[in-house]
Amino acid sequence: MTKIPPFYLKLIPLNEEANKLPSFRWADDAIGKRHKLGGEPDYIQSKEVPICPECRKEMIFYAQLDSLNDEFCIADCGMIYIFICFDCNNVVSFIQSF
Ligand SMILES: [Zn+2]
Repeated sequence: MTKIPPFYLKLIPLNEEANKLPSFRWADDAIGKRHKLGGEPDYIQSKEVPICPECRKEMIFYAQLDSLNDEFCIADCGMIYIFICFDCNNVVSFIQSF
């Protein structure tokens, strides 16, 4: 399985509304800053690697997207994990949360 080299993803607000978005009130400091592309997923629960529905091979981890704040919170401070099959162009995403 080919792995994508790891990139930290930093959110850059594109307008004033995004710039003024309040941060979490109670969550740990790391929550909301765990966006990442490539490398290894930072699973909150147990390891989960989807199988491509077409070729039946393990899919490649593409990215994880974090909760944003108390208003845009994915379950309980969770993240969305995105996997891709570059052969079949299939994408699978799922949520893990505390
Ligand atoms: Zn495939």
